[in-house]
Amino acid sequence: MTTTLVERLAEPDARDPLALASELDLRIQAFVNGEFADAVSGETFPCVSPSSGQTIAEIASCDQADVDRAVGHAREAFESGVWSRMAPRARKKVLLRFAELVSEHTDELALLETLDMGKPIRDAQRVDIPLSAECIAYYGEAIDKVYDEVAPTPESSVVLILREPLGVVGAVVPWNFPTLMATWKLGPALAAGNSVILKPAEQSPLTAIRLGELGAEAGLPPGVLQVLPGFGETAGQALGRHPDVDMIAFTGSTEVGKYFLRYSGESNMKRLALECGGKSPFVVFPDCDDLDAAATAAAWGVFYNQGEVCNAASRLLVHAEVKDELLEKIVAVSKRIRPGDPLDPKTRMGAIVDETQLDRVLGYIEAGKKEGATLHTGGSRTLEETGGYFVEPTIFDTVSNDMKIAREEIFGPVLSAITFTEEEEAIRIANDTVYGLAAGIWTSDVNRAHRAARAIRAGVVWVNTFDAGDITSPFGGFKQSGFGRDKSIHALEKFTDRKAVWIQLR
Ligand code: NAD
Repeated sequence: MTTTLVERLAEPDARDPLALASELDLRIQAFVNGEFADAVSGETFPCVSPSSGQTIAEIASCDQADVDRAVGHAREAFESGVWSRMAPRARKKVLLRFAELVSEHTDELALLETLDMGKPIRDAQRVDIPLSAECIAYYGEAIDKVYDEVAPTPESSVVLILREPLGVVGAVVPWNFPTLMATWKLGPALAAGNSVILKPAEQSPLTAIRLGELGAEAGLPPGVLQVLPGFGETAGQALGRHPDVDMIAFTGSTEVGKYFLRYSGESNMKRLALECGGKSPFVVFPDCDDLDAAATAAAWGVFYNQGEVCNAASRLLVHAEVKDELLEKIVAVSKRIRPGDPLDPKTRMGAIVDETQLDRVLGYIEAGKKEGATLHTGGSRTLEETGGYFVEPTIFDTVSNDMKIAREEIFGPVLSAITFTEEEEAIRIANDTVYGLAAGIWTSDVNRAHRAARAIRAGVVWVNTFDAGDITSPFGGFKQSGFGRDKSIHALEKFTDRKAVWIQLR
């Protein structure tokens, strides 16, 4: 009988990252035109395990020359119509097979994800990979069910309003949910008929490369899905500035999102969809009738995935009347979210992705202390003896919204608690941010729930829950959290353009 990944990893001896990496026969090259290829330059970069600091592989480091090569193949595939003009029903079949292959390789992909970016194996296996397969399947299923339009013009004409794929799409994604963020782009972009070049973050290339291979196995023709691992300043910038790339679908920081606006403006005015950072408010009104549920949601809302979540509930806005009780409950929940070996199936919080991010998070914790916030819980690096990058769940109290820890995206397990007394004050603080990705509201008053949900400027507002998600529900930001929506049928819109065909009747 074969053992499952979780059963195997339950043995501590089976959890050595280096040994696992060698067992897995890692794909370390770019995936170009249906084949593995070294970077044109022959350069590589190290792929480091966040839980041990050890280098587990050397990965092809793609740059401008690789982007030129891949864009050429992508364009050729697109113009040939081999995918772009394939019957939607046939495209559906390939995408459903692709989704099935991702599902069948859940164990392997989950392991790659955890080795690469440090999230708990339990999450990779139960959340990231299943949701990624579901996403590809959703768009595969959808594509032969969406219709074009006929305009209501006078009877002397028939005007078809067609949606056409854009052409070559660059998908540039971050390291926090490497497979999921990739499939949020690939699913709808491929379903619509585009050729896609995926550039994973340099911190997390392993699953992306494997996705390219699985896509080809499912029947995606050469050039339709290519994967270029490499750095942002090289491969990412080259895609952003390429005159023959029609669109960039980006998820990452607001800072880099702004670079893509510049690249586009300075090159071919390529279309952009930008899913950027956040500083989401989690607002607890005094009429919240379930503080236990609110505390559980707040703790997981900010500590899930080591806090490396774009919509993390990083600002807790809590009414003065319930603050002490709520904080106590959040601390109690946090005690169950201790950092540990990401490869241990029992671990609920893994390692921070790399040393740079570790230093960033610790720097913010220092800034919080210096600015006068009260360190309530945590605040330190931990498990240093492993060589990995672990930070304790950290809670600051008496934060004011003008402090750095309330204004900037930390992208680590740090919660800033801010107290309010009036509803208007809570809304004002919630909106006093450059971001607008998500928000949570806790109240038992339906009028207040509607009022606050309308008043908060964010792409997603959760009421009496947090981070609830479904592939049918759009996700994306207002303000400097970007524009364009991932997930749901609406995501297809950004990977197509409208064409009006006017037919004059005689
Ligand atoms: P990042 O912006 O540093 O990198 C994202 C991607 O852009 C990577 O592939 C990177 O290589 C590339 N890149 C970096 N510099 C570049 C440059 N100069 N030119 C072109 N490409 C460049 O982000 P990150 O650190 O990988 O991820 C964390 C960020 O992602 C956070 O800000 C987080 O909020 C955001 N994020 C947003 C969402 C969302 O849906 N809104 C989801 C997940 C993560």
